[in-house]
This record gives sequence, structure tokens and C-alpha cells, in this order.
Amino acid sequence: MYITIDQLKPKLLLVEPPQFNESFQGYILRLTHLNLYDRVTWIYEFMSMTKDYKRRSSTLSQEMEALQKVTGLQQNQLQNLIFRRLNEKLFSEVMNFNQKHKCKICPKCLGEKGFYNGIWEIAFNTVCPEHQCLLIDKCPNCYTTISWNRNNIFTCLCKYDLRKCKTEVIHNQFLYKFSALINSKINNFSNEINHSNPLYELDVLSILRLINLIGLKIVFTLKHGGKIPYKLFENSELSVVVGKAFGVFEEWPKNFMVFLDNLKEDNENGSRGIMKDFGKFYQSIKSYDEFDFLFNAFEYYVFQNKDRYISPSFSRIFKKGFDHFDYITGTEAANSLGLKLYSIQELVKKQDLNGIINENKHFTLCLVNKSSVDVLKYKMKNWYSTRRARELLNINEHVFLGFISFFEYIEIPYKSGAKRRYFKPEVIDEVLTDGYR
Ligand SMILES: [Zn+2]
Ligand SMILES: [Zn+2]
Repeated sequence: MYITIDQLKPKLLLVEPPQFNESFQGYILRLTHLNLYDRVTWIYEFMSMTKDYKRRSSTLSQEMEALQKVTGLQQNQLQNLIFRRLNEKLFSEVMNFNQKHKCKICPKCLGEKGFYNGIWEIAFNTVCPEHQCLLIDKCPNCYTTISWNRNNIFTCLCKYDLRKCKTEVIHNQFLYKFSALINSKINNFSNEINHSNPLYELDVLSILRLINLIGLKIVFTLKHGGKIPYKLFENSELSVVVGKAFGVFEEWPKNFMVFLDNLKEDNENGSRGIMKDFGKFYQSIKSYDEFDFLFNAFEYYVFQNKDRYISPSFSRIFKKGFDHFDYITGTEAANSLGLKLYSIQELVKKQDLNGIINENKHFTLCLVNKSSVDVLKYKMKNWYSTRRARELLNINEHVFLGFISFFEYIEIPYKSGAKRRYFKPEVIDEVLTDGYR
């Protein structure tokens, strides 16, 4: 077997290793710039890839092998490139959520660091958390989408220096949280736990799929299965969609319930039913069966609104009980505590009960956390009533009310305007032992 010198030699004269999380296309552009080629296509041709970065027959390992040959670098150095540490399958699926047709940048990062961060490739990542700005996808000089097919990492095809682009400050914190979350998932950084947002428990692909699913509903009411058409959207437009979609998962499941309400409001034909109100969305969340939390919350929403949705098919669709859910309905909470729904709703509003209340013209959605019902039940059973507290302290009502702020108590409001109070025994007992201080 003969190995020619030519096969051993890297194809490029000048090579620098990729930076951590560098974009693949950005790296090819950087090598083009470094070697003074007139366009990126030369390097893609060396790698038997087309310029829009579709390999003629492409797997991650083939791509890495070709890049090794071209650069003479080791596999582990090339793994600095973003997504190249993912496994083959995950890699190809995640790539479906990337924008390959345009170059999206943070002008400040590009200026400071001199390379393209691969996080910018992800269609749904629309901001730079470090500079708190929207990414740029259009040249402010020639007004065209910034192309990857160039020969200078800093300038547009029109020669405008992209580092000079003015950035737009963005205040939507959801976008930065999303960006940080994606970054930590890709790099297996241990990100902070966020119990009120189920996305934090998932892998990067699942997160992208769910943002896509909810984003699609935000963009279109009914049509278009599939994918958000990134090509038609400018980065600023996409950022609005992503911000809203990420928000749906915050304070789970509260915002999701509001999202479902809005979805239902869009159904203007006035007829009722799960399929009529949610149609394709219901079908699609059913097909996302690995995300239990999504279907459970949907199920719960329907259960909450059973007046609207109960039908012969209801029990067929929802066979499960709701024991797995941390919340019970306002009515169930009322029954359990021996109160009326009005009192429960007021307690939730005052945050004496931990729950969700969502009023609109059709109904009041009230969910109450089970354990907070148990806590309240305990207090109503074991804490002193006003009469008992007064008897123990041996003072009349007027005097007692004057001192009320000294005591820890809960107050149950009634529709009549009356209030019933329960006092923490330890505080009363202390007063009895030590006297008033
Ligand atoms: Zn930046
Ligand atoms: Zn330009």
C-alpha cells in the first residue's frame, strides 16, 4: 500500500485550532480568511462538501475525518467545534434546528473574540446573553442577509465591517434564560435547577422540539405541522416567538393553562369540544408521548374545564386518574376543607393557599396545591379559634382585636363578608406563660 506525501500533508497552509464552541461554518470561514482564499467553497471542496454545508453523503464522523485531513488537526481538537461532541444521531437531529443558510452574529463578541460562536447557529437562539442584545442577521449597509460564503470573517460581501453593526438591547429575560439553558445542555454544564420550568430537566433536542411545538402554535393558529419556517423569519421576529414559547413553560403549569385558554379563544366557531378547540395541537402533544408532563397538564386543563369538554369520548381519552398531579380543583379543595369555592378562591388570591387562579369570561380556573390544602386543614383543626383564644387569654373581643397583630393566625374569608380566624397555639401559650411583653 502506498501513501503519498500528498495524503499525509494537510491541505491548508495555515491552520489554527477551533475555539471552544466555535461554529463549524464560522471555522471554515476563518480558515478561508487565514489562507487568503477568495471564497469558502475551496475548503468545502477539499472536504467533498457543498458550500451550504451539506455533505454529499454525510455523517458526523465522515465530516470530522475530512476536516482532520484538511487541517491536520487531531479529532479531540476539532471536537471544540460546537455539537461535535454529541453522538451521531443527536447531532443530525439537532442540526435540523440550525440555520445554515445565513450567518447570525453578535457584533461585539465577533470583535472581542474573533470567531463565530456556534450557539448563534441555533435558529431559536436569538440573543447574546453576554452583551444583552439581539443577534444581527442582516447587514445594515447592503440590507441583505449575511452570507457564509465570504472570505473575510469581519466583513460582509459589501465590505462593511460587521463589528460596527449597532446592536439592539433586548429586555426579555426569557430569551437569555433560554440561551443559557441551551448552552449548558450542549456542553453538559450542570445548570441551575428550575423546578418551575420542566424544560430544565430535558436534553437539548427535546427543548428545541418543544419550543418548536409551542412556537408553531404561536405563529400559526391551526395550519402547518412540521417546523417553524426559519427561512422566512428574521431574527427579531423569531425572538418574539421564542420568548413567548419559553414563557409558556415558566411557572409550570400556570402559563401553559393560559396558553391553552388563548388557543381556545382562537376557535371562533363557538362549538365546543377538545378536537374543535385544540384539534391538531391535541394530536401533536399526544404524539410527543415522551413528555408526560405536557399531556398531563393538558389532561388536567381539560379536566378543569369538564363542563365544556365532557362528552362520550371524554372518558375514553382520559382513562387515568389525577392522583399523579400535585394540584386538585378548587371544588375538591373546598370539599376537603368543608368550605365553599368562594373561600378557596380568596385564599388562593391572598396566597394563604398555594395555587393558581385564572379568571376569564367563561369560567374561573382554580387549582390548589394538595400539600397546601393539608397544611390549611391541619391549622383549621389544631389552631385555636377566636373564641378559644379569647377564653384562654380571658379578655374581651374588643381588647383581643387590638392585640391581634401580635399573634400568628390565618383568616378564612366567607362570601357574606364574615371572616373566621385560627391562631397559632404556641404564640397564645407563650403569652399565657410569660404574660404580655
Ligand atoms: Zn456578544
Ligand atoms: Zn453588506
